[in-house]
Amino acid sequence: MAQALAPGENVIVVGAGVVGIAIALQLRLAGFGVTLLDRGEPAMETSYGNAGAFAISDVIPLAEPGVLRKVPGWMLDPLGPLALRWRYLPTLAPWLLRFLAASRPSRVATLTRDLSALLGRVNTDYAALIERAGLAHLWRRHGNLTLYRNQQEFDAALPAWEEKRRHGVQWQALSRNELLEREPLLAEEWQCAVQVPAWSHVDDPYLFSRGLFDAFIREGGRFVQDEVLATLQQDGRTCGVETASHGQLHAAAVVIACGVWSDRFARQHQYRIPLESERGYHVNLPMAGVKLHHFIQCASESFVILPMANGGLRLAGTVELAHRDAAPDWRRAHILLDKARRIVGDFSTEGMTVWMGNRPSLPDTLPIIGSAQQQPGLWFATGHGHLGLTLAATTAVLLSDMLQGKTPTLDMQPYRMSRF
Ligand SMILES: Cc1cc2nc3c(=O)[nH]c(=O)nc-3n(C[C@H](O)[C@H](O)[C@H](O)COP(=O)(O)OP(=O)(O)OC[C@H]3O[C@@H](n4cnc5c(N)ncnc54)[C@H](O)[C@@H]3O)c2cc1C
Repeated sequence: MAQALAPGENVIVVGAGVVGIAIALQLRLAGFGVTLLDRGEPAMETSYGNAGAFAISDVIPLAEPGVLRKVPGWMLDPLGPLALRWRYLPTLAPWLLRFLAASRPSRVATLTRDLSALLGRVNTDYAALIERAGLAHLWRRHGNLTLYRNQQEFDAALPAWEEKRRHGVQWQALSRNELLEREPLLAEEWQCAVQVPAWSHVDDPYLFSRGLFDAFIREGGRFVQDEVLATLQQDGRTCGVETASHGQLHAAAVVIACGVWSDRFARQHQYRIPLESERGYHVNLPMAGVKLHHFIQCASESFVILPMANGGLRLAGTVELAHRDAAPDWRRAHILLDKARRIVGDFSTEGMTVWMGNRPSLPDTLPIIGSAQQQPGLWFATGHGHLGLTLAATTAVLLSDMLQGKTPTLDMQPYRMSRF
């Protein structure tokens, strides 16, 4: 069984995305000696270009029946909100079967409860970490707006909103006038909206993750840029990692937080985790010249608008099921431009850039947070899917508690690796 560490022992965290960085910082604050490893610069993969939302109201798992009903329509349009590279279907099939299994109503109810348990504490866990890291200036606590074209579209979404309310999410329906009071720019097409006041965002998720990383270094953490090839075992315990250039590095425990690439380390220990990439795209418009106050979601088109500094915008979203190394289809990014113009009107595309990232997704939408039960000293924090930024601090607090031998304030069974 995984054992608690003594104060001050050394821990290696593999993967400097937002999840690994938050864990490294939290462990350092708990007094452990922490080495964070990444084959690249910190926060340059999926955590670089996400939409910056602390999406505390996304408590319903992705495989809920309402979403599944829309899938056939979406799949007919290669540039729709969801696309599948058909050649990848045979590889993806086991993940898809598990995804379908997660859509049974009783399963959706359980998963909603388990996701709510994590999301309900995000703001508290982040408040503490953000304060310690001195990043309060990047955290915009303005709530979000989910837009609907008309009452009919809103009514179709209402059961999901009511379910969210039953799980503790506070929200408010807004008329067109109330919407305009909050965001005067919004086009006539959008007649109503829902606001979740406790939703928040950061202007730039890369700067935010990098800020957490800088705090980790300031607190005495060590960063090593190298590829980890495997974990090391001695006397039945994980005792470090084998790296490409720095040889063997030893520690009392190793945490794998490699996003979509974490499966390599699971396989090394004969675990099979159904981790796949839900690829997503963004378009960055640093000189859009559009002043928005709120994070905007367009539910029917499955994309979001993040207000960035100085009138800049980031348009992000859509899901593409394809191998993580397949060439990007940049059309999926460019279609976001027209969709956004229908919401905020025209904007400048000067300085525009596009990006694609790999959401590390498990078919039941819950992350893995915990020990590899048969391998003492080895821990995993992965599979955060659409919610990696949102759940990074909470993951870090829970994992840190477990490594210290404290009983987490949450039942961790739903997030264990051995559920697969
Ligand atoms: C378009 C888009 C929009 C999104 N919007 C949001 C949002 O608004 N809110 C939200 O909460 N989430 C959002 N997400 C999801 C979020 O970005 C991810 O869940 C999160 O970034 C995952 O973080 P991570 O640390 O697990 O993985 P990553 O950021 O991918 O980091 C993994 C790290 O592991 C390193 N690594 C891998 N293998 C090795 C190895 N062998 N040795 C050394 N290092 C290794 C990689 O170099 C990488 O730096 C979005 C994602 C996308 C694509």
